Amino acid sequence: MSFFTRPRIRNANYDKVLYYVDKMLSESDRYCRCHRCRLDASALALNTLPPHYYVDSGREDDKSLGSSWILIEIAVREALERVNSAPHHERPDIAGHDGPEAPPYVVVDTGTEG
Ligand SMILES: [Zn+2]
Repeated sequence: MSFFTRPRIRNANYDKVLYYVDKMLSESDRYCRCHRCRLDASALALNTLPPHYYVDSGREDDKSLGSSWILIEIAVREALERVNSAPHHERPDIAGHDGPEAPPYVVVDTGTEG
């Protein structure tokens, strides 16, 4: 973040959840890795965790904010299982299929710009 960026309100759990979704998807081929399933799992996990808002002035990079990693892991694992059992698309026939061509992985942040 540049020096001139205005401080923003951010949810510390947001970055943690996205990080953990990608971590689990890279470690297991059990889950669909398409863009939609990533977003669905991220949204579900974020809805089960309390928000942890803070003001990001661009100077600190405090990874200690937000829920503990064990809570993040539990929320993400449960979300991935739910999405896996009822994806918003037809199931791919081939194992390891990455799903429809995905746009860059972008999730609309919550609790910013206010
Ligand atoms: Zn999918």
